[in-house]
Amino acid sequence: MKAAVLYENNKPVKVEDVVLDEPQNQEVLVRMVATGVCHTDLHFVKGEMPQPLPVVLGHEGAGVVEKVGTNVSTLQPGDHVVLMVAYSCGKCRYCVCGQPAMCPEWLGYHMMGTLPDATKRLHRNGEDLNHFFSQSSFAEYAVVHERSAIKIRKDAPLETMCLLGCGTTTGIGSVLNTAGLRAGDSIVIYGCGGVGLSAVIAANLGGAGKLIAVDTNDIKLEKAKELGADYVINPTQEDPPQRVMEITNGGADHAIECIGNTNVMAQAFASIHAGGKCVIAGMAPMGAMVSTAPFEFLLGKTITGSVQGHIRAAVDVPKYADLYMAGKLPIDKLVSKYYALEQINEAFGALEKGEIIRGVVRF
Ligand code: NAD
Ligand code: ZN
Repeated sequence: MKAAVLYENNKPVKVEDVVLDEPQNQEVLVRMVATGVCHTDLHFVKGEMPQPLPVVLGHEGAGVVEKVGTNVSTLQPGDHVVLMVAYSCGKCRYCVCGQPAMCPEWLGYHMMGTLPDATKRLHRNGEDLNHFFSQSSFAEYAVVHERSAIKIRKDAPLETMCLLGCGTTTGIGSVLNTAGLRAGDSIVIYGCGGVGLSAVIAANLGGAGKLIAVDTNDIKLEKAKELGADYVINPTQEDPPQRVMEITNGGADHAIECIGNTNVMAQAFASIHAGGKCVIAGMAPMGAMVSTAPFEFLLGKTITGSVQGHIRAAVDVPKYADLYMAGKLPIDKLVSKYYALEQINEAFGALEKGEIIRGVVRF
């Protein structure tokens, strides 16, 4: 099968024939229909985050189950599934307490480049290739653990539903779960890419009072307005925290950082009032530091992070699919362009240049 392999950081990804083993034990074989191109893939291409190479990238996939391993109990051939970026074990204290997005197991497997049984199914010329987030969905097929594949209704279009595997659920969950937005609350969202605009859609759905979007790219700001932002700020023209103070009369209830820029994280924290909450969804390069005045904490301000929007994938992903089908979560508006797998480097380039919101590889 064809797959997009990264051999060296900051070099084009190569689309070539690779071997994928049969699903074992609790694994399923998924025929990929579509995979979103998330900025996280780009961070790894650029070496801003660590990952063993060579690796088959892609972590925002959706497809149809073709085969199941001997001990699979939750899926069967023909099921439509969204593949989740973060695997959860189902047994640790986080999973048991209803916080599967915080399960620490995915990180270890991700760093080893394996599936959740610590082995690899991808090979080329007799050498093992590494898995990406235990998924590797920039490929015609993927073998994943059944807990990473969430079954959704068959009438929901997989070429849009793939976004729920990572960026969109992160944006939605950061607002509704991590920040805990209530109707009427004010919120400022820094960064209007796939994650940030999903946060805008969720804030609109959740009844935000004043919904403010910030981005350096005016095209993204236009999209934010279309999706429900009441105010937009371009930092090249205005100082965002100062403008947020004016709009909200002293600071927003919530701020979400969806870029991965430590300066913007500090701006987001500076945009909330005493007692407000700032959520970091963006991924800054490994080793980067944020600094802030401890006095701000005395004022009761909170800063926290969000992996995958603290969603409970098995419950929330089918729910978001229902909301999409009901016209209440218009995430299809985030897709700017579909690409063939062979055009993957073009999709990365367009994402980096800010020419697209979400590009999606369609198989
Ligand atoms: P993206 O490239 O689509 O969007 C980033 C946006 O930020 C762009 O619109 C860009 O114009 C804007 N921007 C850049 N610099 C800016 C600045 N200084 N001020 C204002 N706006 C600026 O990226 P994405 O796919 O939406 O991902 C955003 C971040 O979220 C990435 O760091 C990604 O790795 C991270 N992420 C985290 C999780 C998680 O679980 N926490 C999940 C998915 C993605
Ligand atoms: Zn992602």
